[in-house]
Amino acid sequence: MKRDPALLRGQQFDVLIVGGGAFAACAAWEAALRNYSVALIEANDFGSGTSANSFKFVHGGIRYLQHLDLPRLWASCHERSALLRIAPHLVKPLPVAIPTYGHGRNGKEFLGAGFLAYDALTVGKNRGIRDSSRHVPFTAFMSRDEVQRRFDGVREDNLTGAAVFSDAQMYHPPRLVLNFILSAAEKGAVAQNYVAARSFVRHGNRIVGVVARDQVTGEEFEIRSRVVLNAAGPWSEDLLRGRDEMRIADGGVYSRDTCFLIDGAPEPDYALAVLGSSVDTGSVVGRGARHLFVVPWRGRRLIGVWHIVYKKGPDAVEVSEEEIDRFLREFNGAFAETRIRREDIRLVNAGLVPFGESDETGEQLEFGKKSHLVDSGLLHGVDGLVTLIGVRHTMARGDAAKALDIVDRKLKRTGTTPDSSHLPLAGGDIDNVESLIRKTQNSLSDDGLKAMAPELVALYGTRVSGLLNRAGATGGRQRVHGADITGAQIDAAVHDEAAVTLGDLVFRRTPLAAAGNPGDGVLRACADLMAEKLGWSNDRKALELDAVMKRFPGPSHAGAISEPDPSFVFSQQRGAGVA
Ligand SMILES: Cc1cc2nc3c(=O)[nH]c(=O)nc-3n(C[C@H](O)[C@H](O)[C@H](O)COP(=O)(O)OP(=O)(O)OC[C@H]3O[C@@H](n4cnc5c(N)ncnc54)[C@H](O)[C@@H]3O)c2cc1C
Repeated sequence: MKRDPALLRGQQFDVLIVGGGAFAACAAWEAALRNYSVALIEANDFGSGTSANSFKFVHGGIRYLQHLDLPRLWASCHERSALLRIAPHLVKPLPVAIPTYGHGRNGKEFLGAGFLAYDALTVGKNRGIRDSSRHVPFTAFMSRDEVQRRFDGVREDNLTGAAVFSDAQMYHPPRLVLNFILSAAEKGAVAQNYVAARSFVRHGNRIVGVVARDQVTGEEFEIRSRVVLNAAGPWSEDLLRGRDEMRIADGGVYSRDTCFLIDGAPEPDYALAVLGSSVDTGSVVGRGARHLFVVPWRGRRLIGVWHIVYKKGPDAVEVSEEEIDRFLREFNGAFAETRIRREDIRLVNAGLVPFGESDETGEQLEFGKKSHLVDSGLLHGVDGLVTLIGVRHTMARGDAAKALDIVDRKLKRTGTTPDSSHLPLAGGDIDNVESLIRKTQNSLSDDGLKAMAPELVALYGTRVSGLLNRAGATGGRQRVHGADITGAQIDAAVHDEAAVTLGDLVFRRTPLAAAGNPGDGVLRACADLMAEKLGWSNDRKALELDAVMKRFPGPSHAGAISEPDPSFVFSQQRGAGVA
């Protein structure tokens, strides 16, 4: 996959997808599987929006049991199974322990009964998942002693142990997004990052493409398409409103979800859920407070998630220092001893998710319930345009398939529809992830690289041997500056995965900096290698390093939610004549 926006010109695509997050990526794969000619444009980098900021859970829908919402429970469980089947390298089960207290609503009997009911409702959840290590376990229980041994700071009054259900976890959300896009590109889709849709091209009552802007050169041009699928996440409504004032009736309410990555070794095998003080207003069984989670991720802990109705647009997402302090107070208050301080925060993750039906005024929010799937032909009398604004990364594949069903009707496609819930993504055709890791280790002589094999398999799946044998990659089989990244990965990122900035490489093509600053030396070494391949000057390298560093919290600032707007960086370079 090369970055070459010229490929978007001079032809009419069947489907043009606007956005490059989870939902757009799944739509591109789905459309490519249905043999459409497909283009996808992403204003920044693939997977750099809300999808990069997620809590990394692939939800099996157990929370909907509390709301007695069985269709959503089954849909979520179906999607979790699908991801474990088609991308077993990037998704694996994660048990979640909920400490139990006394014999009432927080007791083992009550919670356990709920979890066992979930097990009964989802008996087929592991069907078709070839690798048994990717099978989602059934409910288990922990003794009080085990809870105390495994988890620090859990409140002990009346503690009886824990009930354990299992969800799944993404190894690295942007790489999962990219995996869908790379899979679509292998089937001929033209996917371009740093190309933004500015407005729709309209002929009478029909959308026939978009006016796009190459964010690197600043050039504007038209992309023609029989159908446009607007999947720009929380930005989708801005694009719709644009010149044509198309509004979604029940749209417009977004929650800013927030989580933090913090220092400190986690219990590696379990996530922990404790009661916070926010209330779950949608709960039918009325257990009151909502759970806060502590999740192991890359040797650190993710904590969250907080939800607040947010009126500013997606470009203005920020989390104030005062809010961070408030969240930490709530979090610390949920434990007997835990004292997480501001200095422990390595990354702040936040983004907007649609809220659906909710009370716009309060801070006590229901979870966003449904994705918006809008056919502008029906709603606005403007054909050729479909909008998909999704609520959970977990649901992206299934919702994208529904969007493509609408596209099929518009384009009058006949023939069978491939079932993408069973078709492995590029690199995902794996019988057993552990065997693939062992095989990879056996093919390597260097101990440092052997230690990296689990990560390499997680990122590239069966494509790992091709990666390590790349011809001509500088230091292909060597770790860069002793860090968890090889020369081959940098080469692949630049030449096959359209990485254009240092941030693309260290946050999204690889998770090198996704758990906080990997160190100045490592970032500089990566920038040097990218500079060599992309012909960057020293000024450009400095800009790239600066943009990455802004993402990490410092003594005087909370850290940015994403890197600075790349179009700003690119225009600075254009203005200064910097390569
Ligand atoms: C803190 C937090 C925790 C979360 N935790 C979870 C979780 O554990 N599990 C889960 O399933 N979900 C979770 N979610 C929700 C999940 O992250 C989102 O539902 C999902 O990422 C939305 O994907 P998307 O593709 O719709 O949006 P995005 O990822 O935001 O993608 C939209 C893309 O469109 C691009 N774009 C915008 N305008 C244009 C334009 N004009 N032209 C071209 N491109 C454009 C943007 O740059 C962006 O990359 C969480 C969300 C947050 C914020």
